[in-house]
Amino acid sequence: MFFTHHNSFFLKNRSQMAVVLLLAFALLPSGAPGQAKNPVPEEKVYPLCKAEDFRAMAYSINDVQAREKRALEWLGRYGKDCSYNEIEAIRSNVAVWLGTADTDKVHQTVKELHLNKKPPPSTLEVSKSTTTAPVIAPSGSIDTTATKKVKRLPNKVDEKTAASKEYSLRDSEIAQCLPNEIANWNDGAKDTKMLSPSMVYVYEHQGAPAGVSEDAVFSVLQQAASAWDQCGGQNTVMLKRDLFDAKGIFKIAVQWNDDDKLGTIGLANITKKTLTLSPEAFVNLKKANANRNLMETLQMVVSHEVGHFQGMTSHSRRCVDVLSYYSNDAGEKCFIRDNGVMPKNFEYRSLLPTACDIQRCRMANSN
Ligand SMILES: [Zn+2]
Repeated sequence: MFFTHHNSFFLKNRSQMAVVLLLAFALLPSGAPGQAKNPVPEEKVYPLCKAEDFRAMAYSINDVQAREKRALEWLGRYGKDCSYNEIEAIRSNVAVWLGTADTDKVHQTVKELHLNKKPPPSTLEVSKSTTTAPVIAPSGSIDTTATKKVKRLPNKVDEKTAASKEYSLRDSEIAQCLPNEIANWNDGAKDTKMLSPSMVYVYEHQGAPAGVSEDAVFSVLQQAASAWDQCGGQNTVMLKRDLFDAKGIFKIAVQWNDDDKLGTIGLANITKKTLTLSPEAFVNLKKANANRNLMETLQMVVSHEVGHFQGMTSHSRRCVDVLSYYSNDAGEKCFIRDNGVMPKNFEYRSLLPTACDIQRCRMANSN
């Protein structure tokens, strides 16, 4: 079912692409044949390939086809200048950064660029630059099943859903925070400053449910961490086995266990500085809903919990916010812009912090 929709989406893209190519061909003789034109002349030319620039580009374009086009242009221009670390960071994250724009063509382009680079002698790569968030590549071998799982992650909607009213409204709610839209359930303490301006989420994979790879969870953590950086802090992710010297680091331990009998998938313990994920809850959810993309659910949960470490204890009343919940015991419901109605069988909450999540966080951290 899902794949049928998925395929028809790409077929449609392909036929549109054929039209574009034909037009370009027809125009060619009157232009300057053979002249390599800069595809995006307004864009600044950077001498180096930086994964974070690629990410920023991807996150700034909502339209799937435009995003794919720009991604291919970006890779064509900067790809050959990429260091191993940068192309590795792009390779591990491209699926999440591009979402449905991570087409086979993009995937193949990144893979080829990656294959042409040699890994550095050390397996742990931490950028020494102080002006940007360190890019930490997952160490160890990368098995293809894990990569495939990550690649599937952002395909959160099929074509029908994407074209529906709910989806476009949801998209704009994610991207934009209108005045008066920041509202809480008042179920927790007042917002505070983030625990530390620089936090390292130290991930231990031990105890994770079967079928969930370390790379996939690492990637999910990285997405959440860098998305919350928009609030002003610096959130980075490391594997526990790569952490040799923990002195001077503000650590949040990310772990899998059912010691606390959470009942939910995730729990942020601010006092203990632990982010605990429940293998039991994860497995139960899988049993209850075989069609659900659990890596998306995990992304949402992790983004939510990382948000609590940014200083926000209570939950958002706006359904789409990653820090929201949908209804309380009294039957009160979260709200959607313009009295929008929650679509059935669809996770309305964002996978990453929304404009309102970030704005609220910035307000909490501004004085
Ligand atoms: Zn929460």
